[in-house]
Amino acid sequence: METKQFKAESKRLLEMMIHSIYTHKEIFLRELISNASDAIDKIYYKALTDETLTFEKDTYKITIEPNQTTRQLIIRDTGIGMTKEELEANLGTIAKSGSLAFKAENAAQDGHDIIGQFGVGFYSAFMVADVVTVITKPFGSETAYKWESHGVDGYTIEEVEKATVGTEITLHIKANEEDENYDEYLDTHRLRTIVKKYSDFIRYPIEMEETER
Ligand code: ADP
Ligand code: MG
Repeated sequence: METKQFKAESKRLLEMMIHSIYTHKEIFLRELISNASDAIDKIYYKALTDETLTFEKDTYKITIEPNQTTRQLIIRDTGIGMTKEELEANLGTIAKSGSLAFKAENAAQDGHDIIGQFGVGFYSAFMVADVVTVITKPFGSETAYKWESHGVDGYTIEEVEKATVGTEITLHIKANEEDENYDEYLDTHRLRTIVKKYSDFIRYPIEMEETER
């Protein structure tokens, strides 16, 4: 297993997300669904140009699986996945952090929900989760990797087994705090409402998988 540090800019953004006092934390789900949808788009376009690959419509979907016992929320897609290099480049560095900081400052100034209108990206998961685990197998490879982060201390990467191509993101939802309750992000009905509110236009099926408690 390899342990790595985040780039300075990413660390700052991560810190912002972890200590976010933002009231619309629910938008993390929109961000993860949007990434999942982008990843399926990529495999779709690949299928258009690659004759060896057929886009089996039914197999491409996004699954949301909350588990109140383990306090985990899993978002799974059958998209293109990421290589080890892509994992490091995409989740270890956030190129757009400067513009995000700018948006956040302006949002605070005029009180509008500016953040809610822009993509804030993958790191928004840290507004509701204290551990984020990404298991991904890229198209065209037999090797899968697990990326895991507890926040600013960095992340680990190791090789794991994964049967199918795509990405599985597990959020370990934060424990409730005196002034903040996170239980809603494990509640099927609440999650459905959030999906409907922000991700209704997504072209692929979004399925809720209910785990037994
Ligand atoms: P953006 O979507 O604006 O590029 P994000 O922070 O949301 O920024 O995501 C960073 C990058 O991580 C994406 O561009 C993509 O390359 C990669 N990524 C994130 N989630 C997934 C996923 N589910 N499948 C494949 N790649 C992903
Ligand atoms: Mg995104």
